Amino acid sequence: MSRDYDVIIIGSGPAGFSCAMQSSKFDKRALVVESHEKYLGGTWINTGTVPSKALREAAKTILDFNSQFNKEDTQKPYDRFKMEDLLQYKDEILEKENLRAKNDLIKNEVDVVRGFGKIVDENTVEVETHIGTKQTYTAKYILICTGSSPVNPDKFEIDNDKILDYKSILNLTHIPRRLVIIGTGVNALEYATTFSALGTRITIIGEREEFLTFLDHEVKEHLHKILAEKNIRIHPGVTVEDVNFNPLNTTTEVRFRNKKGDKRLQVIETEHVLYLEGRKPNTDKIGLEKVGIETDERGFIHVNDSYKTEVDTVYAAGDVVGFPRLASASFSQGRLAACSMFGIPALETPDQIPYGIYTIPEISNIGINERDAREKGLDVTVGRAYFKNNAKADMTNQDEGLLKLVFDTETLKLLGVHIIGEQASNLIHLGQAVISYGGDVRYFIQHVMNYPTLSEAYKIAAFNGVNRVYKAGVKYKNILENNNSG
Ligand SMILES: Cc1cc2nc3c(=O)[nH]c(=O)nc-3n(C[C@H](O)[C@H](O)[C@H](O)COP(=O)(O)OP(=O)(O)OC[C@H]3O[C@@H](n4cnc5c(N)ncnc54)[C@H](O)[C@@H]3O)c2cc1C
Repeated sequence: MSRDYDVIIIGSGPAGFSCAMQSSKFDKRALVVESHEKYLGGTWINTGTVPSKALREAAKTILDFNSQFNKEDTQKPYDRFKMEDLLQYKDEILEKENLRAKNDLIKNEVDVVRGFGKIVDENTVEVETHIGTKQTYTAKYILICTGSSPVNPDKFEIDNDKILDYKSILNLTHIPRRLVIIGTGVNALEYATTFSALGTRITIIGEREEFLTFLDHEVKEHLHKILAEKNIRIHPGVTVEDVNFNPLNTTTEVRFRNKKGDKRLQVIETEHVLYLEGRKPNTDKIGLEKVGIETDERGFIHVNDSYKTEVDTVYAAGDVVGFPRLASASFSQGRLAACSMFGIPALETPDQIPYGIYTIPEISNIGINERDAREKGLDVTVGRAYFKNNAKADMTNQDEGLLKLVFDTETLKLLGVHIIGEQASNLIHLGQAVISYGGDVRYFIQHVMNYPTLSEAYKIAAFNGVNRVYKAGVKYKNILENNNSG
């Protein structure tokens, strides 16, 4: 049967973009349906990953300059720098990334149509344009990658003036003196350290008792220390009662109570509030019922390892399928979906993926952490390297940080890497390569590494860990000799 396309992709975020590119490389005809009138790239380029990181980089440049050359200056960054300039920097990057995405699709002969896509049947998508016209397209396969949207608070409204969300924070007209962030997830901590770098006094409040529970306990202790040094206050385990602008004293008041202990009403006065309590998948109104696809209670679509739904011709990838809800993973999922659709073997992808948290400084990890390993009864040893003992970290004035290796005591096989510090999300990839090739910590000892570099922290941590094994009774010399004979 002749169809318009081989695949129709609903959504142009990382999942859709990579599926389109991979399909085109397989000589398949792909159509991307995008509901945004102007932009491509979804949360990835326009409201999430790229803009938040662009602002972070700009703020970090200011912080780095001030802490290196301007220590004596009593002026706050918000007195010397304008939000306008930071936003312009961010907007230029957004334009560049948008143009690149657009050009890549054009070069690869992927068609793009603007409008809201809705599944009509297993092979048909209806697109309603912004002026209300409708057109249907057919394809052998459909990929749903419509992403996610912020959840709105139920006790107060986002007014996009004093009370902001993921989108409106990107259009602030000035650097606030005070900011209360509601939410204790990764994005909340990233924005907290970004604005703190600009001199903003930050308070974080959130529903959850514990936050970033997946982090290694020492990395988390390090993070707490850094947040305290930056004067970032955290109130976890609270219920926010309401948020109101008080015209009498021109402040925004946040009222909340602890869930446990003293439950009296507390009030924080602030200039702005940033609400980042969560996101929900965009799976409403896209016609899932037409093909009998059900979502779970949170709205996520269930898929198999190839990102296929229970309907053979319909795939789903990215934030709509739930964990880990990252642009990094979405790129890979979109590609794997294309490989499965067109029967092209995908290279095996390791089940462990790295997590990058772009706080200042960054945090990144891969594999098991020390506590989980011990709880599982694994015999592990850890090796640590503190950035304060690293020459490159000293030279770049980035000496706050820790790189921690978790490895099997007997075989020295590397099982996990946990980093907090400058370039953590870049550094993690060396550990990732060693883990995915089944390597052990001797790799870091036996290979010459460029000096001075932050990567050298791997070597120091490996020596530290091997030394600990030696102290525990295994001959150090034997450890190195075993490797030579193997
Ligand atoms: C503040 C913030 C910071 C982040 N930082 C990072 C980070 O540093 N690293 C990282 O890996 N991840 C990060 N993420 C997560 C990342 O942005 C998302 O996981 C990723 O964008 C999800 O990709 P996606 O393809 O599923 O959807 P999206 O990127 O959300 O794209 C979905 C697209 O589908 C379109 N669409 C929706 N419905 C329809 C429809 N019916 N018809 C047509 N088009 C439709 C939307 O307009 C949008 O363009 C961040 C997220 C946020 C909010």
